[in-house]
This record gives sequence, structure tokens and C-alpha cells, in this order.
Amino acid sequence: MMQQSHLKTLFVDSDTGFYKVNRYEIGKAWGPVDLGIHLSKKYDSLNIGTGLLAGSIFPGSNRLIFSGFSPCWHGFFISSMGGAGLIFDNLGINMLSIVGKANTPSILYLNRNHGEEIEVEIVPVRLRKTWEEGKKGVYALMQQALDIFGDRYENDPRVIATGPASLYTDFGAIGSAPIRKGEITHADCWAGRGGFGSKMLQQHGIAAIIYGGTFADEDFRDRNVADTWFQDRYQMKLSAKDMEATTKYRYDPSFNTGGTFGVNYATIKDNIIAFNYRTIYWTDEERNKLHQDFIVNHYLKQFNEETIEKKQQKTCGEPCAAVCKKLNGEFKKDYEPYQTMGPLCGIFDQRAAELVNMKADSLGFDAISVGGVLAWLMECLYEGYIKPEELGVQDKPIFTIENFDVVEDSMFNANIAMELLDEMVKPESRINLIEGARKYARNLARNKDKRILDIFIYNAYARHGWIVPNQYWTPGVLSPMSIMGKYYMNYGKEFIEPRELGRENARRMIKELMIDNLGICRFHRAWAEDLIPDIIDKLFGNKEGFLKSIELTASRIHSRNASIFWEAERNADYIQTFIEKRLRQGDNSEITKLWANKFKTNKNEAALEFWYEIHKGAHEVLREF
Ligand code: SF4
Repeated sequence: MMQQSHLKTLFVDSDTGFYKVNRYEIGKAWGPVDLGIHLSKKYDSLNIGTGLLAGSIFPGSNRLIFSGFSPCWHGFFISSMGGAGLIFDNLGINMLSIVGKANTPSILYLNRNHGEEIEVEIVPVRLRKTWEEGKKGVYALMQQALDIFGDRYENDPRVIATGPASLYTDFGAIGSAPIRKGEITHADCWAGRGGFGSKMLQQHGIAAIIYGGTFADEDFRDRNVADTWFQDRYQMKLSAKDMEATTKYRYDPSFNTGGTFGVNYATIKDNIIAFNYRTIYWTDEERNKLHQDFIVNHYLKQFNEETIEKKQQKTCGEPCAAVCKKLNGEFKKDYEPYQTMGPLCGIFDQRAAELVNMKADSLGFDAISVGGVLAWLMECLYEGYIKPEELGVQDKPIFTIENFDVVEDSMFNANIAMELLDEMVKPESRINLIEGARKYARNLARNKDKRILDIFIYNAYARHGWIVPNQYWTPGVLSPMSIMGKYYMNYGKEFIEPRELGRENARRMIKELMIDNLGICRFHRAWAEDLIPDIIDKLFGNKEGFLKSIELTASRIHSRNASIFWEAERNADYIQTFIEKRLRQGDNSEITKLWANKFKTNKNEAALEFWYEIHKGAHEVLREF
């Protein structure tokens, strides 16, 4: 049994610089999510914390979890960042809760150097000037924080930082990269979803946080004992089971590739999504051809040759056998950013995608959402719904496959995407996203052309909340759940009738919440979801209480579910074309046929019913009693 009995939370008021530590009994709260929702409701704070297993020998246990009310989703949200919890653990606290707002944008400095006290300083920074320096944006601010404060730390600290997207939009991300021997590495990690960069900067006046220390607490580090738990369950030691569980993210010999980019693109075939989802209207043969010609023979081939064969891979900062950060020099490649700022924008070449992704990262955008917005605006330009000069760009993109040159035309489209990105972060921008892309799209649709809204795929929440869905062609990603844009839903390729899909989403949400509340990386979920309750029981006791608290937290979050029925016609098309494809490809179940018929008879009515059925299924499971 561990000695730790409380979760220690450092409150920092960024207005006054006042700080204090509060303790919350373990059992009443278990981690950064359930404590986060409690604090968010009480103080509307930004909460940043680790799980109970941070610093332990369990691989993937050092995620840094961000929670609070999201400025873009407009509901409670959770986002996480790989490895950043390892250094946070050296502060000797479980959570940082930021309240108040600094008068000028500032860097928050936290250091626990051989003592009981954490040093806290809030230091103003010339933000716009800093963002223009060196590697620009988020990277420049990380460097500046390190330059100012780095020599005060005995061990390498970590910096989390925002970019211009956090100042000018509601979906700015928080970025960070591990620091090795005083140098910031290229393996950057992101709390991308939910706009917590915008929250930190706009609501609290904090542009970056540098933290670290020397504190060593009593973390579970007995490998022999852990091995016996794994042996009992899997007849394998911890490291062997973890190697097996993380194959996809390291290297999967069945596909001769690795990481989310490699494995997803190797297997996606005619589920490929490109040109702002226009491919859902293509034939299976056309999509298969696109996959073969542009992905397998080019985009993926480049990745395999440059990254996988050269073994350019790193971890997020914690010791982890998955080494999921796949690199090409300074460019880190994950599936979803290189999908939204790749094929979704009509870009199928690594050089072009690298430029757009790097620009979006240095500006500090939520990469998935900004890629979705770019692709949408590019189709609006292509269709002539909006003129290039109205968005501050020179040309219309090439959004058709006929005669598409995979290198040249990808770069042509990338240049337009980069012009759009630049426009989004100007003070008097023609693409004003300060209140989000949904409101912006709604205004354009009202004032110009309704079709503008109809081709923008997003999940809607309350009056203005929005998020671009995960990049899988399956109904789950458009579900009316209380948190969307991350994997609190089923995103498998099978057709699941919507009521059951809702139930399945809810069950997934509970599992994912459990590992988020423990700060565990979901790439280890193959054993973590299964074994974690027992590990908690052995280390802290009260497994039943732990499991109950997760269900309670899920129902608490769900009780605020203000999801809004799909506003874009293309959302409904996304579901309908998916169902029709399933039928064409041999799914003969009565339920699939039934829904295909409903959509064929009356698309809008079927979409509404489908949406509500998912909603009902989720409510059935996420009840407190
Ligand atoms: S799988 Fe990747 S993100 Fe997760 S702990 Fe390992 S290196 Fe970090």
C-alpha cells in the first residue's frame, strides 16, 4: 500500500500571484479528471495534473492532464499531453489549478528545489515579439522560457507554451517538447483538443509555464511485484505485455510500418477521406485508386523510407517501448494532423504536408480542428462560394483528382493552406475565429451562401461549441456525446445500429475516463483498461470505490451534454454514404438495410432519428443509478 492519502493541489491566482496548497482525500477524488471537474465547477479554473501512478514504473503513466470548461467546445473538456507529467511529478504536487487573470501575458515559473516550498513567479513576456523569434510561435516561447529560467533548475525542466492561435482563436493548443541537457528536442507533444491554450492565455493571462524540480516522492517502482501481477493475468512480464500492446505504435511487421500514420494509412484503403470529405461521394474504385496511387505509392512510401526504415523515432519524454513519436528531422508525424493537413486539404506529399503542419504547430493550433477548417475553406474557394481575396489568399486550390500532380499540386494547395493560416492569426483577420469556426461559418452562411455551412463537418455543442471530428469514416465520430473530438466513442469500421452505438460510446467513455483520470497514455490501453483497477486496489485499496467514482464522473460530465443535432448537410451524408458502402461491401444485416432505406426515403428525418438513437443509448448507460 502507498502512503499517499491526499491529492495535493497548488492554486495559483495569476492576477495577484497569490498561491496556496489544498489537499483532497484520495477516495473522494482519484485524479486529475474527477478533481478537475470539481474545481472547474467551483472556480472555472484551468486544471493541470498527473495521475496517481505518475513516476511509477508503469509505462505511459506520466501524461499531463488538462481539464476545464473549453472555450471552443463550451463544455467540460479533458485534453492530455504525453510525458509532460514526469517532470511535473518533481514538483511534489498532483495538480496545478490556475485561477484569475494576469494583467499582461506572462510566463508562470514553478520550481521545487530541495525544499518544502515551490517557488512561484509570474513574469510578463513580450508575446508578439517572442512569437516572431527563431523557430517562431510556440517553439520560440518555449525557448524564451528556457532562456530566462533554465539555469535555475538542477534537472532539465519542461515548458508548456501557447502560440498566436491562442490569442486570436478559441482553439489554441498547448505544446511542449522534452528537454535534454538544456536543448529542446523535436518530439513535441500537444494538448491539442479543447482549446486549452486559448483558455490559459485569454482567461488567465498565462502564455507559458516552465516547471521542474528535485522532489522525489514515494512512487511505485517495484518491478518484481508488478511482474507478478502481469504474470498472474497474462502469463507475461510487464515489459513483454507492454511490448505486445504497443506494437502498432512502434513497428507492426504485418504492415512493415509503425505509428498511427504508418498503420492507419497502410490499412485505410477505400475508407480514405480527402478533399474536405468529398471522397465520400466517390465510388469504391475511385477511393481505392486514390489510396493506392497517392497514399501507398507516395505519401506512405515517403514516410516509410524516411522515417520507419531510418528508425527515426522517439518517446514523448517518458521511458516507453512504444517510441510512438515518428520523425523526419524536425517534423513529427501522427496520423490525424497529417490527415487533416494532408489528404483532407488535397495534400498527398510529405514535403508539402510538413510545411503546413509545422506552420500550424508553431502558430499553436489544435491541428485536427484547424486542418478541418482549412479543408472546408479550401472547398469553399474551389466551389466559388467565397472569393480568394475575401480570405486573403491568391488562388483557388486544386480540389479534383483529374490530372492532379501529387507533388506539385500538393505544394500548390499547401501554399494556400499556409496563407489561410497566416490570415487566421492577424489582429483584423478576414477569417475571424475568436468565437470559433462554427459561429464564423454560420455568419458566412447567413450573409453569403447557405452551402458554405453545408459542407463544413463538425460536432456542435450548445450555442457556439464546435470541434472537428476524428478522422475515421464511421458514424461514431459524429456522435452526440458530452465530449467529442477524442476517443470517448466507438470509431470502429463496423456498422453498429445507433442505439447500441450510443451505449457502446458510453462504455468507451467510462474506460477512457478511467485511464485519463490516472494520467495513463491510451496507447497502453490494451492492458491498462483491464489491469488498472486491480493495480489501484493493490496500491491504494478500494477498487470498488475507484470504479464507482469513474462511473459517477462519466454521468456527471454527461449530465451537461448539450450536443446539437448536425447542422451541416454533409454530416448526414457522411453517415448515409458510410451505410451504403457497408451494404455494397457485403453487410447484409437487416438493420443496415433498414437504415439505408430510411436515409434513402428521407435523409433529414433519418439523420435526426439516427442522432437521437445514439443520444438515447448513451443516456441509458450514463445514469447515476
Ligand atoms: S506511447 Fe508515445 S505518447 Fe504514449 S507514453 Fe509511449 S512514447 Fe509517450
